[in-house]
Amino acid sequence: MSRAFNFCSGPATMPEAVLAQAQQELLDWQGRGVSVMEVSHRSPEFVTVVEEAEQDLRELMAIPDDYAVLFMQGGATAQFATIPMNLLGSKQQMDYVDTGVWSQKASKEAARYGKVNIVASAKENNYSKIPEMAEWQLHPQAAYLHYTPNETINGVEFAWVPETGEVPLVADMSSSILSRPIDVNRFGLIYAGAQKNIGPAGLVVVIVKKSLLGNALPITPSIMNYEQVAKQQSMLNTPPSFAIYLAGLVFKWLKQQGGVAAMEALNQRKAEKLYQFIDQSSFYQNPVDVSCRSWMNIPFTLADDKLDKQFLVEAEANQLLNLKGHRLVGGMRASLYNAIPEQAVDALIEFMKDFEQRCG
Ligand code: PMP
Repeated sequence: MSRAFNFCSGPATMPEAVLAQAQQELLDWQGRGVSVMEVSHRSPEFVTVVEEAEQDLRELMAIPDDYAVLFMQGGATAQFATIPMNLLGSKQQMDYVDTGVWSQKASKEAARYGKVNIVASAKENNYSKIPEMAEWQLHPQAAYLHYTPNETINGVEFAWVPETGEVPLVADMSSSILSRPIDVNRFGLIYAGAQKNIGPAGLVVVIVKKSLLGNALPITPSIMNYEQVAKQQSMLNTPPSFAIYLAGLVFKWLKQQGGVAAMEALNQRKAEKLYQFIDQSSFYQNPVDVSCRSWMNIPFTLADDKLDKQFLVEAEANQLLNLKGHRLVGGMRASLYNAIPEQAVDALIEFMKDFEQRCG
């Protein structure tokens, strides 16, 4: 069996070494005669798995002690509601930046809990460019400012971190966490669904400044209450134990690779290669402004969309999977998360070149 190159936007490619280890340990974990998903989440051996996963993530991202790290459920989408319920407190309004599909979904959900201000929108340029910070209409009374550093569908990524003064900054890092170093101190809260750079879908990681805890609205379900989840070390109920175990293996794999600095170099190289190839071609096109092109998700179109189907069929025959773009954007999309090796990008470019020569 040979592994295909899988460019899926999520659930996405896992490091092969992690899958192999999980396979090897599946029937008999730590010589205990059971798999990790069959042991009590309260057992000392599983508590160690959670503690090590948290510790490794803290090391990888240099997370300061005044931040809690929470492993929660319901994906990033559950956080769209969990964040306002926990952070709105006695304030009446929240600021959101509209840069694409995911930031819109987040703001719509938040509007169920209070007044949402859209402080800037990329709508007028069809989500191909992030509005300059100087144009944002910030509200000093807002409970927080929410933005999406990488828009997975639109392929638009912030190359900078917004400056919001006293207003806590909240970031949906689902599709960019661990892809490069960041300064956690700049953020009030970071959250990320696991299924791109961390592990299996359903799990969501939340990194939150401890001083923001304790203000949950009375309606907040306990399972969504950060303070309660933090007090119980993410074990308020039975956690998604197998997903946390796999996330822990991914964190260890990342450390072996040289951490996020090594990922940054690799991810930049992979993305630049593909953008360069697209830009020199008159057959392929990427619609995003050069200043905010994503390293993780690269959408592109063919000169003639009647060729889309043939492109996808032939790509799949070449073991290049899941290149179909999101239905809202059309065309193709290659997602190049941490676990995508450089050879996958080389193979994709070779295929694209050949396709262009034959069909362009
Ligand atoms: N935010 C972003 C940036 C995403 O890419 C996604 C999933 N593609 C989500 C939120 C939603 O994640 P989930 O399906 O885990 O709820």
